[in-house]
Amino acid sequence: MEAARLLRSSRYAIVFTGAGVSAESGIPTFRGSGGLWRRYRPEDLATPEAFQRDPELVWKWYSWRIRMVLEAEPNLAHKAIARLEEAGLVKAVITQNVDGLHRRAGSRNVIELHGSILRVRCTRCSYRSILAREPGDIPPRCPMCGGLLRPDVVWFGETLPLGELEKAWNEAAKADLVMVVGTSGVVEPAASIPLAVLSHGGSMINVNPEPNRYTGLADVEARMVATRFFRPLLRELGLAR
Ligand code: NAD
Ligand code: ZN
Repeated sequence: MEAARLLRSSRYAIVFTGAGVSAESGIPTFRGSGGLWRRYRPEDLATPEAFQRDPELVWKWYSWRIRMVLEAEPNLAHKAIARLEEAGLVKAVITQNVDGLHRRAGSRNVIELHGSILRVRCTRCSYRSILAREPGDIPPRCPMCGGLLRPDVVWFGETLPLGELEKAWNEAAKADLVMVVGTSGVVEPAASIPLAVLSHGGSMINVNPEPNRYTGLADVEARMVATRFFRPLLRELGLAR
């Protein structure tokens, strides 16, 4: 298996993931089949303008997603990525996902570019909190100042958390191999991070059942769902348990 060979011979491999890695945990992706909600497009709900216009609607959508994330379990792909890190074959996981499943699967060096759906922050003061369940009252209010609370995620049109972005670029600069798993590669600036690995001569493995932004650029094109890719990979590396 070419992917196993690349991974074994790499010096500093990183993983870059998107919604597709969580699809087999039952969390719908944004693009591609399924996962739409009512007659809204996620792109129309995950914006600061949508929140300003109708915080209740946006919060209903997030409550539904929060519940889904809390009920979901990491799948074999999340676990395999954690296992590879434990074995020293992967150094970092950069994710666009907000579901926290990489950490729950045991990954340690996780960079969350788009925040976490399990955190809220106040739109008026510096209050932040972690959610153990979806908020009871919608839209939820800040216990400190009464302002509106919002999900601590990056919406379309917002800038990414600077610290996380910087960490991600640093990891990409060090990497000689990037495994891109389950992303369409259309959301910038995140989608450019794996390209940086290529631009300094590193290799890429692209795991996706559909063609995406990286198709034609990757050294290994694994046109399949993530769990189908990782199961034999772990076996070949002697890491299956
Ligand atoms: P996307 O919806 O644009 O693309 C998902 C990709 O995953 C597609 O290319 C699809 O072909 C692929 N895919 C579907 N099932 C797969 C599987 N089983 N294995 C491997 N690949 C599979 O998602 P994106 O590229 O992450 O970008 C969308 C944005 O949406 C991100 O910024 C992210 O923050 C957000 N988002 C996050 C979650 C989550 O946290 N789980 C879910 C939906 C969207
Ligand atoms: Zn407040």
